[in-house]
Amino acid sequence: MAESFERKWSEFTRLVKKRCSSAEYTNWIAPIRVDTQAKCPTLLVPNVFVREHLIDNYKMELSTYFSVEGRGGSELQFVVEEKKVKKPKTDPFKRKLSPAPEKGPFEKTVMLNDNYTFDEFIEGPSNQFIKSACLGVASKPGGSYNPLFIHGGVGLGKTHLLHAIGHFLRQTEKKHQFQCITTESFITDLVCHLRNKSVDKMKQYFRNLDVLLVDDIQFLQNRLNFEEEFCNTFETLINQHKQIVITSDKPPGQLKLSERMIARMEWGLVAQIGMPDVETRVAIVQHKAEQRGFKISNRIAFYIAEHIFNNVRQLEGAVNRLGAHCRLNHLEATEEVVDKALGEVFHSSPQNRVSVDHILSSVSSMFNVSENDLRGSKRNRDIVTARQIAMYLAKELIGESLVKIASAFGGKTHSTLLHNWKKIAKEIQNNERLRRQVQMTRRNIEV
Ligand code: ADP
Ligand code: MG
Repeated sequence: MAESFERKWSEFTRLVKKRCSSAEYTNWIAPIRVDTQAKCPTLLVPNVFVREHLIDNYKMELSTYFSVEGRGGSELQFVVEEKKVKKPKTDPFKRKLSPAPEKGPFEKTVMLNDNYTFDEFIEGPSNQFIKSACLGVASKPGGSYNPLFIHGGVGLGKTHLLHAIGHFLRQTEKKHQFQCITTESFITDLVCHLRNKSVDKMKQYFRNLDVLLVDDIQFLQNRLNFEEEFCNTFETLINQHKQIVITSDKPPGQLKLSERMIARMEWGLVAQIGMPDVETRVAIVQHKAEQRGFKISNRIAFYIAEHIFNNVRQLEGAVNRLGAHCRLNHLEATEEVVDKALGEVFHSSPQNRVSVDHILSSVSSMFNVSENDLRGSKRNRDIVTARQIAMYLAKELIGESLVKIASAFGGKTHSTLLHNWKKIAKEIQNNERLRRQVQMTRRNIEV
């Protein structure tokens, strides 16, 4: 019985090894051992997180190898291994997994991307506010917005701003202890220190920081035990008026985290970073080109910026590609050359492009208000709300200048658009029903 279980387990691990990265395998799967003494199929795990990871990520595979009981539970038993007095020296896992505890990856250098400074960050209406908030926090940590929570879609500059705070702290306030981490590396560190029984050291390290910069908090979702540890660290720091800055792809309320954690993140300033409008994108294209040692005329920069509106990372990629194309072929960047070099990128974008018409038709069917009324100026309450939501979504989803978007709403002005956007943006923070309606409409538009 024990032998057949061992065999099944090794087949299972072979399968998993093929599917996952070697780091994942080494960290999560390799440390699990079969308890050969146990009467029923039992796995020895170094801590509860390893068990959680296994069950969360390989439920299906586990059930093909190990029979599943009637109520959905598995026949598998897990036992958290007691601290072993001595491990056989030949244990291959142990050797691989024991980095020198003194040199845990956190006690040390802060990893910052050299290019992600405030100077290199181009401002526009979509990110001005958030940039000043970041500058404020960097100049006076713990003094104003705490925590500062930055959210927005991919490639819009969240990591850039987070690192910019780090550079600023490094240059001006040497006395501030700070660390900039991704949520994933926080989890990896925690696992590593749990395994080495040095969690207290890690806790102490984090709790002695003056500023903690945390990137991509969304990766804490569905990681219950890690969330608790993070939340404790968070509270300790905040209670001592230490600064925390967090980035996320969603606002706090939309993250699948505990109410406690969400409430903590909403304590300070929650700010969204939006997609830069076309003028800002032009400036970014020109700046990135200059950085790479070539010049792009206004007209061409505009041409590129008009076609690429999803995110800044994509825009940057386009500049790189165009630069290489021109250099290799000794060409000037003309419209034709741009089409040739960036054709594929351009082609893939317009299909996903959201238009005002698209938004109006979606809002119209969601809220039962005619498209004409949305474009018009009737003051009936239901119509006004639906119109405001449409304007909010248009600003959120369309990377055009506000003037252009507003005029597509039956000739409204850009300040009307901005006013309505602000109104909804504020209301959805507190009004759960409205937030859901907006979310649903948005999902409807984006599919
Ligand atoms: P996110 O973390 O939001 O996914 P990043 O911060 O990684 O996005 O930004 C993606 C790329 O775009 C980076 O190379 C960054 O330097 C660049 N970028 C984003 N916004 C700006 C901006 N406003 N000015 C200059 N570069 C930007
Ligand atoms: Mg990022």
